[in-house]
Amino acid sequence: MDNRNYDAMVVGGGIAGLQAASDLADQGYKVLIVEKEPSVGGKMILLAKVFPTLDCASCITTPKMSYAKNHENITILTLSQVTSVERQGNDFKVQVHREPRYVNEETCTGCRKCEQACPVLRPDPFDYDLGITKAIHLPFNNAIPLKAVLDMDHCIQCGACARACPVPDCINYLDQGEEYEFTVKTVIKSTGFDMTPMGAKKEYHANELTNVISPMQMERLIAPHGPYGGVLRPTDGKLPDSIAYVQCAGSRDETLGVPYCSRVCCMYAIKQAMLLSGILPLADITIYYMDIRTFGKGYEEFYQSAKSMGIEFVKGKVAQITEADNDNVKLRVEQIGENGGLKEVEHDLCVLSLGMVPTKLENDPFGLELGADKFICSRNPKLSSTLTSEEGVFAAGTAVGPKDIVDSIVEASAAAMQASVYLQNLPKLELNQ
Ligand SMILES: Cc1cc2nc3c(=O)[nH]c(=O)nc-3n(C[C@H](O)[C@H](O)[C@H](O)COP(=O)(O)OP(=O)(O)OC[C@H]3O[C@@H](n4cnc5c(N)ncnc54)[C@H](O)[C@@H]3O)c2cc1C
Repeated sequence: MDNRNYDAMVVGGGIAGLQAASDLADQGYKVLIVEKEPSVGGKMILLAKVFPTLDCASCITTPKMSYAKNHENITILTLSQVTSVERQGNDFKVQVHREPRYVNEETCTGCRKCEQACPVLRPDPFDYDLGITKAIHLPFNNAIPLKAVLDMDHCIQCGACARACPVPDCINYLDQGEEYEFTVKTVIKSTGFDMTPMGAKKEYHANELTNVISPMQMERLIAPHGPYGGVLRPTDGKLPDSIAYVQCAGSRDETLGVPYCSRVCCMYAIKQAMLLSGILPLADITIYYMDIRTFGKGYEEFYQSAKSMGIEFVKGKVAQITEADNDNVKLRVEQIGENGGLKEVEHDLCVLSLGMVPTKLENDPFGLELGADKFICSRNPKLSSTLTSEEGVFAAGTAVGPKDIVDSIVEASAAAMQASVYLQNLPKLELNQ
C-alpha cells in the first residue's frame, strides 16, 4: 500500500459503505474503504432475494462491489479495523490493524488449488455455519478481493496448500498482519448491524434446538447456491412440511435491551415465506406476529399478496419453544382474537425473526456519541441523520439505526454528499485557523 493519504475513509464495506465510497470517488475524491471481513459486501451479499421486488441480492450487490474495486479513486483494505484515531488540525491520523490473511493478496490468483488440496473442513461463516468449507478457502464465489484466506484456528500446517499453490511464496504461515497509519480528511462510518443473539430469549431454547434457525440461515438455505442445495432441515435433511416464523424474537423486548422495532423483520419474514411457498409448494408456512409493520413503498401490497398466496398469519405471542417428537419443534402460542387462547402447535422447522443491534461501537476509537439504543447518535436527527457528534465524521446505513437496503443506500449517498461539502469547505477552515 503506497498511498497513505486519502480524502475520505469509509469504515465498513457493506452496501452503505460501498455506495458512500463510490459517490465520493465519482466526485474525484480519493477514498479508502476499511473492512473487517475478508471481502466487502456486508450482509446484502449473503441474502437470497430482496423485498419488495424479489430481485436477486447478489445480482445487485456484486456490481456495486466490483465498481468500487475497479474505481481508480478507491482502495479497499480488507481484514482490517481502525485501532486509534487522532485529530491533527483538519486531518485525522488513523491507525489501522490488518489481520493476517496468510496469503499474498498481490499474487494470489483465486484459482482455489490451495482449497482443493486442504484436508481440513470447518464450518462456513458465509452459510452461517450450516455448510462447510476448507481451512484455506475463498470467502465466497464473488468475493472482492477474490483471494484465498487461511483460518489459522483450523490450520494443521500440513503444507498441502503451499505445495498445491502454483504461485511461489504466495502462502505465508508466518504472516503477522500489518499496522498502517493513514491521514484522512473525513470519515464515513458504515459499520452496519449484528443480529440479536439466537440464545437471547432463553424460553426459545434456540441454542439447543437445531431446527430453530436464524433468518440469515434461512436466507442461505433459500439462496440458489446454498449449503444444502435446497431448503432442508438441519437435523435430518428432511424437506420441511411446515415452517413457523416467530416475529419480534429479538426486538421490542425491554428484557433484551432491544426495546425498539427493527423495522425489517416483518418484511424479511414475509419475503422468505413467499420464496418458500415457491420452493416448497406443499409446505404450510405460518407467521406468528404481534403487529405487522410494513413501512416502505410497496410493502403493504407485498404483505397483502403474501396473504393471498396462502401464507398463514396468526396474531399471538410465542411464549415458549421446546423439542417435540421426530426433531420437530413445539410452539406454545398465546393467540389473540376470535380463536384466541393458549395453544400448542408443532412445526418441522422454526425461524426466529431476530432484531438488529449495532456492531460493537462502545470502545470505538472514533468515540462517537451513541443513542440509548447504542446506534450512532445524530447531531441533527430530524434534518440530517448522517451528522455525528464529531465534526468531519459522518455515519450511514444500519450503523445509525435499523433500516432496509433502500434507506441504507439513500443515507449513504447523503453522507457522501455531506462529506463532499465538508471537504470543499476545508480550505476555508484551514485559512481561518
Ligand atoms: C435476514 C435479513 C434479511 C433481509 N432482507 C432484506 C431485503 O430483502 N430487503 C431489504 O431492503 N433489506 C433487507 N435486510 C436489511 C439489509 O440487510 C440491511 O438494510 C443492509 O444490509 C444494511 O447495510 P449496511 O451497509 O448498513 O450494513 P452491513 O450489511 O451490516 O455492512 C456493514 C459492513 O461493515 C463491516 N464492519 C463492521 N464493523 C466494522 C469495523 N469495526 N471495521 C471495519 N468494518 C466493519 C461489516 O463487516 C460489513 O461488511 C435484511 C436483513 C436481514 C437480517
